[in-house]
Amino acid sequence: MQGLSFYIETFGCQMNEQDSLRAGYHLAQAGCRRVFSPAEADILLVNTCSIRRKAEEKAYSLLGRFRALKRKRPGVVIAVGGCVAQQEGQGLLERMPQVDVVFGPHHVSEIDQLVKRCRVDGERFAAVSQITDSVEDLECPGISDGKGLKAYVTIMEGCDNFCSYCVVPFVRGRERSRPYRSLLKEARRLTEDGVKELTLLGQNVNAYRAPDRKGFRFPDLLAALSALPGLQRLRFTTSHPKDLSEALIDCFGSLGPLCEHIHLPLQSGSDSVLAEMNRGYTRSEYLEKISALRDRVPDVAVTSDMIVGFPGERPEDFEDTLRAMRSVRFDSLYSFRFSPRPSTRAAALEDTVPEEEKLRRLHVLQDLQKQISLEKNKALEGKTLEVLVEGVSRDGGQWMGRTRTHRIVNFSGPEGLAGRLLPVTIEEGCQNSLRGRCFLTRDDTGG
Ligand code: SF4
Repeated sequence: MQGLSFYIETFGCQMNEQDSLRAGYHLAQAGCRRVFSPAEADILLVNTCSIRRKAEEKAYSLLGRFRALKRKRPGVVIAVGGCVAQQEGQGLLERMPQVDVVFGPHHVSEIDQLVKRCRVDGERFAAVSQITDSVEDLECPGISDGKGLKAYVTIMEGCDNFCSYCVVPFVRGRERSRPYRSLLKEARRLTEDGVKELTLLGQNVNAYRAPDRKGFRFPDLLAALSALPGLQRLRFTTSHPKDLSEALIDCFGSLGPLCEHIHLPLQSGSDSVLAEMNRGYTRSEYLEKISALRDRVPDVAVTSDMIVGFPGERPEDFEDTLRAMRSVRFDSLYSFRFSPRPSTRAAALEDTVPEEEKLRRLHVLQDLQKQISLEKNKALEGKTLEVLVEGVSRDGGQWMGRTRTHRIVNFSGPEGLAGRLLPVTIEEGCQNSLRGRCFLTRDDTGG
């Protein structure tokens, strides 16, 4: 493996990104070097998500392009990982002759061995059993943002909830939490290396239960990590409303580094659709939790996921969703049209909402959210917010950073601000971001 080069492309959520980082780490440990162009690579790795049909389609289209590369250089190894790989297994090898190795999320830590086996034996195979790795293997020695400012720590994997539309329990398996001791060690190493912001990851992150400490739950973990010297910001994603306990709500506003933001998927505002989705809560239970959260921290940002056109969603159910949105006033929203995913219970339900109606509902919902997001961002004009400066803005003319509520701020200020936590005065609230100015001088910032 020494001297080989690898290229990784990732589709899907932050958990997939983290898996790619781990795969890259294991290949690098085996002596491989990462490249950023598929044409230069000896190993092409595609890590895919199958939660949304769109991510899956993008991955297949990329694999189609890799087929041409493989024709030119037959020695290239093409490996496909992630949820799609887990779900398709051997079938993917049969459908795509250019693919050599298919590996599920439980085999990420052995990717170097799998590629080696393929190169040495010339064998094409699928490694998709769900028992190979242990929660210890979820440790990720890499820092995800490449700048050393922010890092992600996977604290648990899998899900026991079996929402009727979701493949995660089938492809990632049941919930498994990492030992507290190993998490603390990883987080401490990251903060000692200068990481200022940690995001804890898990499909159902707030269901965390330490296997090595009796009764040690997610709020205890947040409290322990908040005490790490140097840690300025702590976030987590994705949480389930039914696991948003009072103890967790109490953490907001009382643990200094814990940011005033929660991503809490509602998915639908209709109780009958929520029941069909097997979400385990009603609209009013969700609203009560948001209200308890806002009692502690009035400005807490709440973001969410919403599915429109779920089987059986009537116009009045959709109206309930819009009503819930007006009531919560989410800071931002990821919204999707329902698409049936293989193996799920919802895939067997009659898809009652025609595609054009799903699209119409999606547009109505997105228009409402645009209006709410803009109003909420406009309300911040004139306020001074703490911003963690990540680098230069997309157009290169300004600085870019994020507030504690996870809003993007593009702002002007003196040189040398990257990596700093600074006060920025908001001059304009736009739909998806804020514009502002840092009034500190270069001397004030120590630049
Ligand atoms: S909580 Fe539901 S939607 Fe989220 S990962 Fe688990 S089964 Fe999927």
